[in-house]
Amino acid sequence: MNDFPLLEREMNGRPLVYLDNAATTQKPQRVLDVMERYYRMHNANVHRGVYQLAAEATDLYEAARAKVAAFLHAQGEGQIVFTRGTTEGINLVAQGYLAQKLQPGDRILLTVSEHHSNLVPWQRVAKERGAVLRFLPLLSDGTIDLVAAAREITPRTKCIALAHISNVLGTIHPIRALADLAHAAGAVIVVDAAQSVPHMPVDVQALDCDFLAFSGHKTYGPTGIGALYGKTELLAQTEPVQSGGEMIDTVELYDSTWKPAPWKFEAGTPAIAEAVGLGAAVDFLTWLGMEHVHETIQDVTQYAYEKLREIEGLTLYGPTSRGGVIAFNLGTIHPHDVATVLDAHGIAVRAGHHCAQPLMRWLGVTSTVRASFGIYNTRADVDALVTALARVKEVFHP
Ligand code: PMP
Repeated sequence: MNDFPLLEREMNGRPLVYLDNAATTQKPQRVLDVMERYYRMHNANVHRGVYQLAAEATDLYEAARAKVAAFLHAQGEGQIVFTRGTTEGINLVAQGYLAQKLQPGDRILLTVSEHHSNLVPWQRVAKERGAVLRFLPLLSDGTIDLVAAAREITPRTKCIALAHISNVLGTIHPIRALADLAHAAGAVIVVDAAQSVPHMPVDVQALDCDFLAFSGHKTYGPTGIGALYGKTELLAQTEPVQSGGEMIDTVELYDSTWKPAPWKFEAGTPAIAEAVGLGAAVDFLTWLGMEHVHETIQDVTQYAYEKLREIEGLTLYGPTSRGGVIAFNLGTIHPHDVATVLDAHGIAVRAGHHCAQPLMRWLGVTSTVRASFGIYNTRADVDALVTALARVKEVFHP
């Protein structure tokens, strides 16, 4: 796919093979063009000016919100809050929604495989409110044991929060089944969709999730922007975490009132160009078709899984059927050493704990190598990885 200028670069004298898409994705030319055109032609502050240019900027910003709403199949753009990314979206739900609902002894249910941004905000709110964190049992391949999960969800469970796709194991979790269990117990379900929105069709109504957060930069859009979906009645009950300009209705000296959702959550000047860029990324993905995106990434991931499995001494983590993420270790060679040799071959992979330290402990390792795939990756990229891994073995075990 030649829509991505950065992918034409070379690294260490080799064509770049970019396999760190779970961390962030590269940007298509049309996203770059739309953002540049915004600054060249339409830049003004939003929701304030009465002049033509301000109206143009506001229209572009709000049109981007409508695009995200349609992309997630939300009921309307009022259900889409622009955030800085997944992390900010989850923090908003934890502090703005759940904090006021929790009584001492109430439970928040997570998994041990959560990214730190879907763990630490819940730890904080639980400590503040005297609530208890519990963890859904995982089977040995990292999938959820639904029978055990059903037992774990009690009337004290107020919230279930989990990743749709794990950023390490690649596990695709059964969100709809868990949503049904959560709702039967009177709990809400919060979905960390950082890895799923870029990877597969995500329909918030079909999932029946209460909140869902994702990041623009992992979705072929810019950094500094993301979105939080929330059901209308839940967003109405959510308090803003930040306050100031733009989010108010009237301000008196001693008191103020807010705008309705989603604007009450967007205090201050928002990331306008970035929101417009995210809208362009959504247009790009819609044009490709998310079914096609899903099939493309599935194909390359399954191919990689099979090829990596053939390498002697290589340990793969997670289930066979998975999203576009493969974490592994090569014998006892340190993941940083593996990644360094791969880099010398122009291959960019991640090595470390992937912001999932409890999961590393659960797996019994300190770190792993992680290859993660995007829409531009091909089987040839996987072949390059496999060839370079053979070289890694020669270097460390000549
Ligand atoms: N959750 C998951 C599953 C992720 O992979 C990531 C990013 N690595 C995040 C949350 C956090 O996303 P961001 O840093 O864009 O807020």
